Amino acid sequence: MPFYDLKCSSCGEEFNAAAKISEREQKLIKCPKCGCNELETIFSKVNIIHSRKSAETPACPNSHICGGCCHH
Ligand SMILES: [Zn+2]
Repeated sequence: MPFYDLKCSSCGEEFNAAAKISEREQKLIKCPKCGCNELETIFSKVNIIHSRKSAETPACPNSHICGGCCHH
């Protein structure tokens, strides 16, 4: 189950939620603060989930060239 960094469009609350892709698409994820389901996905924010994932996955050998964003 993927994790999402989400921001509430209503109150601006930022939170992390684990949800199925279908749940996100169907707007079944709700803001824990106000209950609004109008959420933006935050892509730029790197968090604990990301660092855990990079511990499992070897860094791209070309990361000095690509900046580690080629998702190898
Ligand atoms: Zn909210």
